[in-house]
Amino acid sequence: MPTLVISILAVVFTLFCGWTLVEKTGNSGWISLLFLIPIVNIFVWLYFVFSEWPVEQELSRYKARYGELEMENKFDDVSMDSTCLRCRAVIAAGSSACASCGWSYKGDVDGAVR
Ligand SMILES: [Zn+2]
Repeated sequence: MPTLVISILAVVFTLFCGWTLVEKTGNSGWISLLFLIPIVNIFVWLYFVFSEWPVEQELSRYKARYGELEMENKFDDVSMDSTCLRCRAVIAAGSSACASCGWSYKGDVDGAVR
């Protein structure tokens, strides 16, 4: 009986992790069911190792269209409210510095981000 329970838990664990992992690649989670089939699962692993994932294809299209991602530009986007990473206060839209503690995504006066 304990063996059956352990087996069921192992299958549930494998399905949960496999489903989550496969969906993060941009594929349908249903593919994770193939991990439960002996021998077939080896080829599924190889498919994920050597194929270009949908999320990678999307990133390639994005880079081809807009160029490399530039995180600096994202920090400059102050069109919406954001949260101060130092004191957790709300930084109002239009401002890049926290009104409570002075922290900024752009760094302090000396340019250091703390
Ligand atoms: Zn703050």
